[in-house]
Amino acid sequence: MKVLVAVKRVVDFNVKVRVKADHSGVDLANVKMAMNPFCEIAVEEAVRLKEQGIASEVVVVSVGPATAQEQLRTALALGADRAVLVETADELSALAVAKLLKAVAEREQPQLLILGKQAIDSDNNQTGQMLAALGGYAQGTFASKVGVEGGQLLVTREIDGGLQTVALNLPAVVTTDLRLNEPRYASLPNIMKAKKKPLESTTAEALGVSTASSITVLKVEAPASRSAGIKVKSVAELVEKLKNEAKVI
Ligand code: AMP
Repeated sequence: MKVLVAVKRVVDFNVKVRVKADHSGVDLANVKMAMNPFCEIAVEEAVRLKEQGIASEVVVVSVGPATAQEQLRTALALGADRAVLVETADELSALAVAKLLKAVAEREQPQLLILGKQAIDSDNNQTGQMLAALGGYAQGTFASKVGVEGGQLLVTREIDGGLQTVALNLPAVVTTDLRLNEPRYASLPNIMKAKKKPLESTTAEALGVSTASSITVLKVEAPASRSAGIKVKSVAELVEKLKNEAKVI
């Protein structure tokens, strides 16, 4: 089975983001970028399926600037076979990304498409679901376990109050939750080998996809800073403050 994995280049999760002075977005100048953590889990799952002899080829795809090649090379070092970059300088909506991923999937014909459940920059949690809808694929979102049985994919999903297992006909979209696996680190020899693995660049125009969006970002603001807390000496004082100062009881 061929597996297509979507990886997004995002601000590294350790970085404290700064909003641009004109409130048009987050300042990315000289900021450390990395692969979205949920995409790392997606790559790991695909590589494990290959190691188990279930996946025949793992192709990674990213939509983003030329620098997203770094994240694709990381995915290749982690065990993916081939990479495709859909190069764009624009910040695209989840729907535009889903359309581009669908176009790549039509060309690649994977049986399984693995995405992260959400990108930690936009927090959309939309792309996998939109891709499944556009491509007519079955979908198993928030996966904490994936297995193959009798030509179907068994996906255990993390839902409110427990776990749900669904059987999906292929081709299918799976989005990864945190507990699906623990991604490995790339070894130095594999980082060197990844430099020679194929990485193809394409564009939305070449794929025949319009990325025009019907959503406009009006303003980006940093969360309001919280005022410092205080320590109370007794329960009576706490109750008094909740009643008379906070007025919540
Ligand atoms: P989102 O719907 O934006 O929260 O993203 C969910 C998942 O969709 C990510 O974890 C990726 O697997 C995929 N995805 C979103 N944006 C991109 C992108 N620009 N390039 C590749 N994959 C993406």
